[in-house]
Formats: sequence, C-alpha cells, structure tokens
Amino acid sequence: MEITIFSIFPEMFAPLNASLLGKAQEKGVISLEIVDFRHYSLDKHRAVDDYPFGGGAGMVLTPQPIVDALRDKLNTTADDDLEIIMLSPQGQVFDQQAARRLAQKKKLAFVCGHYEGFDERIRSFVDSEYTIGDYVLTGGELPAMVMIDAICRLIPGVIKEQASFEEDSFYQGLLEYPQYTRPRIFEGMEVPEILIGGHHEKIRLWRKKQSLLRTLLRRPDLLHQYPLNQEEEKLLAEIKMDLAVGENHE
Ligand code: SAM
Repeated sequence: MEITIFSIFPEMFAPLNASLLGKAQEKGVISLEIVDFRHYSLDKHRAVDDYPFGGGAGMVLTPQPIVDALRDKLNTTADDDLEIIMLSPQGQVFDQQAARRLAQKKKLAFVCGHYEGFDERIRSFVDSEYTIGDYVLTGGELPAMVMIDAICRLIPGVIKEQASFEEDSFYQGLLEYPQYTRPRIFEGMEVPEILIGGHHEKIRLWRKKQSLLRTLLRRPDLLHQYPLNQEEEKLLAEIKMDLAVGENHE
C-alpha cells in the first residue's frame, strides 16, 4: 500500500518507522511519503494559515498550499485505487470496520489539519473525513498515525499470523477473551486450569464464553449489533444464568 501524508509537522511521524510498521516499510509491503504542504505555499513568508473571515479566535489553514500539494503528489482526477482522507473531529468515527475497508485500498492519503482547522472548501478535494473520537486534538498527525497503524496491521505481510488479528477485539464484533502467559502462578494469581489441559475444543468454548461475557459486561452496545450463532446463543444464555446466581464475574 502506498501512503502519502500531508502535514506541516513531518517530524511528528517518526513512530511510524519503528516496530512492525518500520519492518513493513523495509519489506516493501507499505511505502510512506510525508509531504510538508508548507513548501507549496505561494505566500512570500510561506504562511499556510490566515485569519477567519467574519472574525473569531485562531487561524484557519488556507486551501492553496494543500490543494497544490495534493495535485502535485497524487493523481487526484481519476484514481479508484486512491482514497484521500481528511482528519477532522467532525468526520465519521474511525473504527475497526473502517480499518478493514481502508486496508483493501492500494493508495491512501491523509491530510492533517492544525490551528482552528481547514478552510471549508478543502472538503471538495477529499474523499472522506474521519475522526478518531469525540475530543479535539491540536492536529491531525496523531489521528493519522492511529489510523495508519490500525489499517496497516490488517495488510497481509505486516503481522506474521493473520489469526492474531482475526481474534483481536472488534475484528469479529466482540471483545477478545482474557489472555495468559507464563508463569502459571503470579503473585498468587493462577492461570485458569482449562488453558493448561491442552483440550482444544474445551479451550475454544471457554474463550468464546469469556469473549461473550466480557463484551456483555463492558460493551453491551457491541453485543446488540452482533449476529449470534446457535452456539453463542447457548453460551450467552448460560452466562446470563450464571450472572443471575452470582457465579460469573470478571
Ligand atoms: N475547530 C475545529 C473543530 O471544531 O472542528 C477543530 C480543529 S483542531 C484544533 C485542529 C486539527 O486537528 C483538525 O483540523 C484535525 O485535522 C485535527 N483533529 C483534532 N481532533 C481530531 C480528532 N478527534 N480526530 C481527527 N482529527 C482531529
């Protein structure tokens, strides 16, 4: 996947060169270009912001440098393989489903705002607008990195085993079951006996039940949208009975 980031703070993206995404770049699975759109400003001081028409606090990003940078670096007219994403607290909420959709693309571009945000007319030059949550950050750089990380780990070749993200929270629509590693006893807390026995079917059922229980207790909103199969319906009924008699707790 080819990723192009448009930002006036390119130095903020160093974390993308570390860990799995750094390795994915070395292997050529993803490529990353960071474009400082300040270089495209036609202003004699290379300014990229100006006062808002109508008054008010803060500065607004002018459209010219961003649009010229997009036109120079991308084929903005007819490229079905490309999605240009604007980071904005007013966009649709980025979630695992959006990550899965975007991971199918061959090219992604991220336009990072700053100050009071973008001149409204920038919206005509992008394909989608995403927020990473209902809070306001100083710039779009961290949201772009969050999105890139979540998207890229779904691209084949970035993570070694596909199963490791298919069982992650949200991928199938539920929270993941509890995980344990060595030692078997840590400060008096024991690993559940069932995970030690090596009985794969029992372990699978235990994990499924824990996943349902955890989602029911922590994120019932997810469970309402989740299409339960017969086995899951049975397990959920068991969980509800256990809860009623005070047996199941996290
Ligand atoms: N005045 C804008 C508003 O109320 O919608 C907020 C501007 S914010 C201070 C500056 C930039 O940070 C935005 O243009 C956007 O690129 C980025 N940003 C801030 N919070 C964000 C969020 N939750 N998700 C995505 N981008 C965000």
